[in-house]
Amino acid sequence: MNILIIEDELRIAQLLQRGLEEHGYKTAVAYDGMLGKKLVMQHGYDLVIMDIILPKINGIDLCREIKGIYPDLPIIMLTALGTTDDKLEGFDAGADDYLVKPFDFRELEARIRVLLKRGTTNSPGSGAAVLKAGELEMNLHTRIVKRGENEISLTPKEFKLLEYMIRNKGRVLPRVEIAEKVWDTTFDTGTNFIDVYINYLRNKIDKAYDEKYIHTKPGMGFIFKTD
Ligand code: CA
Repeated sequence: MNILIIEDELRIAQLLQRGLEEHGYKTAVAYDGMLGKKLVMQHGYDLVIMDIILPKINGIDLCREIKGIYPDLPIIMLTALGTTDDKLEGFDAGADDYLVKPFDFRELEARIRVLLKRGTTNSPGSGAAVLKAGELEMNLHTRIVKRGENEISLTPKEFKLLEYMIRNKGRVLPRVEIAEKVWDTTFDTGTNFIDVYINYLRNKIDKAYDEKYIHTKPGMGFIFKTD
């Protein structure tokens, strides 16, 4: 397994590199966002670990660019900042997971294992290409989402959230389950960010229509249902 580390702090980059290589991973390091982007384009990495505050291209923009080209390449963001807003921004850019510095190496390694395992079990082409629910249609290959004739533009996380809700339609989904299944993580800062994402999704798929698909079950979670 090949991991690219994009981190401008030499000491942290070396620590990561040494730790990962001790666990049997191959690693490469880029000390700025520009070089990181170049390396991702040139080599087939299995996972990327990147800092948010980076010279030349910051981590949020870089993550968005990489995910636009390689949507399935897992990205873990590292940062000294730890507020919910920063997490949201990172996830909005398409990051798969998030660790706040100083982090525990075993924790990082556990998250890497989860993401790499997901990569091999969710191989493209498995299962149906199009999910349908009511007037909604999600093409999992082209990533095109439509409600009726209207195409809806979703971020990678919104896409994943909607996919999970449709696959589990008719069942109440607790926030903790959504955090675990859609974000592959449990959150130390609570699950308020899920309400934020549910609202993003509602604005895009429900707001302009009479029939609503996403419903809140107070004290329990959310449910996706069609008539
Ligand atoms: Ca930095």
